[in-house]
Amino acid sequence: MTPAFAHSPERPLPKRAGVVVIGGGVAGVASALTLAEWGVPVVLCEKGRIAGEQSSRNWGWIRKQGRDLRELPLMIESQQFWHRIDAQLETDIGLRAGGSTYLAESEAELARHAAWLEEAKDFQLDTRLLNRGDVNALLGQSDSRFVGGLHTPSDIYAEPALAVPAMARLAAAAGAEIFEGTAVRTLETAAGRIAAVVTEHGAIACEAVVLAGGVWSRPFLENLGLALPQLAVQSSAQRTTPAPLISDSTLGASGAALRRRLDGGYTVARAGAARFDIVPAAFTHFRAFTPILKARLRMLKLRLGRSYFGPLGRHRWQGDQVTPFEAVRVFDPAPDHRLLDDVLQAAKSLYPQLAEVKVAERWGGMIDVMPDEIPVIGPAPSLPGLVIATGLSGHGFGLGPGVGHLAAQLAVGRPTLVDPAPFRYDRFTGTA
Ligand SMILES: Cc1cc2nc3c(=O)[nH]c(=O)nc-3n(C[C@H](O)[C@H](O)[C@H](O)COP(=O)(O)OP(=O)(O)OC[C@H]3O[C@@H](n4cnc5c(N)ncnc54)[C@H](O)[C@@H]3O)c2cc1C
Repeated sequence: MTPAFAHSPERPLPKRAGVVVIGGGVAGVASALTLAEWGVPVVLCEKGRIAGEQSSRNWGWIRKQGRDLRELPLMIESQQFWHRIDAQLETDIGLRAGGSTYLAESEAELARHAAWLEEAKDFQLDTRLLNRGDVNALLGQSDSRFVGGLHTPSDIYAEPALAVPAMARLAAAAGAEIFEGTAVRTLETAAGRIAAVVTEHGAIACEAVVLAGGVWSRPFLENLGLALPQLAVQSSAQRTTPAPLISDSTLGASGAALRRRLDGGYTVARAGAARFDIVPAAFTHFRAFTPILKARLRMLKLRLGRSYFGPLGRHRWQGDQVTPFEAVRVFDPAPDHRLLDDVLQAAKSLYPQLAEVKVAERWGGMIDVMPDEIPVIGPAPSLPGLVIATGLSGHGFGLGPGVGHLAAQLAVGRPTLVDPAPFRYDRFTGTA
């Protein structure tokens, strides 16, 4: 925990705030930063530590390329926020405009990239298709196995474990009060709208709440009687010992995706490879998730076990009871070593520069997935004052500053920077 953010008897919670943000991942921290910059009294409550979960465990890609078109306007804004935040920081968070590249090993794969480029043409991005020669030049190889690729020079990346804590320090400097080790148990209402959050250390009266709880958002809402079709899948990643530069760009191929780190090593993983521990919510929302399940089944390991009754299972509690959020301060799932061995092997076979690397660290992370794989950013109509910002579906590190900004606008009733309609909470009505 960051001492400056720890809750303690010497640093108690305020009794009142304008907005309380639940969750200290990239979305919650960005929301608190935005509100603090506007002069709104804002308190952020994080059950564990800032960016303890997905927001420090991700690959660090911040890309427009390959995005769902409904997210692109927000992503374009988000990249601007990343540059602005980086410019305000005194520490190097590894933000680099090295570009992003998807490499194609077959003509069919290349055709899929070309199709996305055609769909996205109205956005006038700097994305372009690469041919075999372009890819060889990008990778410094004379005879790579790729037939081409998709490349966006203006895409960026950063070190997640550095970026979000630095953003939190910026938010605190702007006036946000941040409390680690502070789980929000539930919400209180008065006259039909949000009146307070109830934390493990007492209540904070407030006018609005932003729920940016990652995979914990669904159980939090279920306890309030609100349905959210969100499931958690477990992903694995690893970092290597330092190795020569392959390219300044992030590189995605079906066998392995990688990004050069600030420490000279690589973060190496495989897109889409995930494990799903079945929980009761999977049955509740089975119909909504059937299409994505069918599409992803080949990359998904399904498991029915103790997790069914675990922290993301079905639980109910009151404000004076200990919650799953306190039982699991930081979700730290074990990585899938067999998968990661295979991924590293694939990376070594694609890039000779990696021949000598060793594994420096491996980790797991829980990803909050929505049935249509785009976030929910919007008010909960039945609970005025509550704005939900969750379900970033495995690509929310890059989008996080935009998500936080939009949620902040909705919480205080400002005009929104993009049309929030695609992210409405009630788009799933009838699926629960
Ligand atoms: C292995 C991996 C690789 C990824 N790669 C990328 C990538 O390259 N690019 C990209 O854009 N995205 C990537 N992602 C996805 C990205 O990390 C997430 O979409 C993003 O970090 C989600 O941010 P968040 O703030 O919504 O949630 P989180 O980071 O999960 O934060 C939610 C926080 O809320 C806290 N919380 C929850 N409930 C409560 C409560 N009741 N009280 C107090 N605190 C609470 C939690 O402790 C947690 O810290 C990846 C994810 C993983 C796991």
